[in-house]
Amino acid sequence: MAVDLTPGPVAAELAERTARFVRETVLPVEERHRGVSTEAIRRELQRAAREAGILAPHVAPEFGGHGLDMRDRAFVFEAAGYSLLGPLALNIAAPDEGNMHMLEAIATPEQKERRLRPLAAGDVRSCFAMTEPAPGAGSDPSALTTRAERVPGGWRIDGRKWFVTGADGAAFAIVMARTSGTPGDAGGATMFLVEATNPGMKIVRHIDTLDESLFGGHLELFFDGCLVPENAVLGEVDEGFRHARVRLGPARTTHCMRWLGIARRAQDIAVARATSRELFGSRLADLGMAQQMIADNEIDIAAAHGLILQACADLDRGGSGAQSTSIAKTFCAEAVWRVVDRSLQICGSLGVSGDALLGRFLREVRPFRIYDGPSETHRWAIARRVVRRHETATAR
Ligand SMILES: Cc1cc2nc3c(=O)[nH]c(=O)nc-3n(C[C@H](O)[C@H](O)[C@H](O)COP(=O)(O)OP(=O)(O)OC[C@H]3O[C@@H](n4cnc5c(N)ncnc54)[C@H](O)[C@@H]3O)c2cc1C
Repeated sequence: MAVDLTPGPVAAELAERTARFVRETVLPVEERHRGVSTEAIRRELQRAAREAGILAPHVAPEFGGHGLDMRDRAFVFEAAGYSLLGPLALNIAAPDEGNMHMLEAIATPEQKERRLRPLAAGDVRSCFAMTEPAPGAGSDPSALTTRAERVPGGWRIDGRKWFVTGADGAAFAIVMARTSGTPGDAGGATMFLVEATNPGMKIVRHIDTLDESLFGGHLELFFDGCLVPENAVLGEVDEGFRHARVRLGPARTTHCMRWLGIARRAQDIAVARATSRELFGSRLADLGMAQQMIADNEIDIAAAHGLILQACADLDRGGSGAQSTSIAKTFCAEAVWRVVDRSLQICGSLGVSGDALLGRFLREVRPFRIYDGPSETHRWAIARRVVRRHETATAR
């Protein structure tokens, strides 16, 4: 099936407006704060994005957005991703963007009004609590140990989660808990909407990590007899893993889009340096090994963009996109790392210094090879599908 490599007219204009907004409004703030935001900065940038008409462009118009499909998101999100603070400014950063996508798809009308509307407006933030410390859920979600038991009037959640991005200051968490079966079972999970004010959801600690720019940090949470009402169930009971797939494929693809923006930025920084730096009687940009790094960056960026659009086409057609989103995620996470690393190399000591943001970019993109599925998990899943396809074809 052919893949359309161009944005629709609305997205083309929005992407251009976003690029201008990032250049004029976001980059100066990012440089002043070295890519790390505060609540006041988030609110100020989102106010400016709202005025520019580019806030939360992915949600439906009834929730204040432009209802962009996945292909159109690719162009706008890549433009926003040119700055570490761009996605936050447009309210399309993880985990809120993925949570909005899922709420729009599976929440009840009451949950949408109560949760999606303020989230899309940037009035509140959210988080997604799936991963658990060993031996719980990680690359293998079926290891889920957090339990939710029925009690009169609702549910009681007990368990421990970690690496919950943005949990500090979030108004609510979407929590995956086991409602039937035992760890190792492929089903039996349910998602719950838990208010931050719930006394049963306790912050254990902020985890010290390599990256710093994802807003709110990464937290460990303890669910200690956490009581939630019946209407806290998101989607259907025991269907949590199926519902989460609504979020996971698109969310890993939008992560690729945002980080590809940073790869383009790193390449621009490297090319600017290579064309202005004189070495051995010539411009760095005219030396063969520097040209190779610039060319390899361009190839990685172009290939990543193409694979993202392939995944978007599958998702927009209503498919699961399981294979193409895995392929795009694995390639992009590694390509973005390579591009930032080569760009830093081209800049020499400047690249390592705090005078350029490349060192920060390197730290920010490294964890992407682990979250939204480590590269090894995706390769394992990709290979299994290929082998299954072969076996099905040869059995006929
Ligand atoms: C910065 C950051 C933010 C995150 N934010 C969130 C969040 O908001 N919410 C949330 O729920 N989770 C979040 N996570 C957790 C993330 O989803 C998990 O780290 C990821 O699913 C991997 O699980 P794990 O860390 O338990 O690694 P493990 O499951 O212990 O895997 C360890 C390693 O095993 C290897 N491996 C995995 N599968 C295979 C295989 N099939 N074959 C061979 N080797 C394999 C890989 O190298 C992998 O890195 C975040 C993680 C990071 C780093």
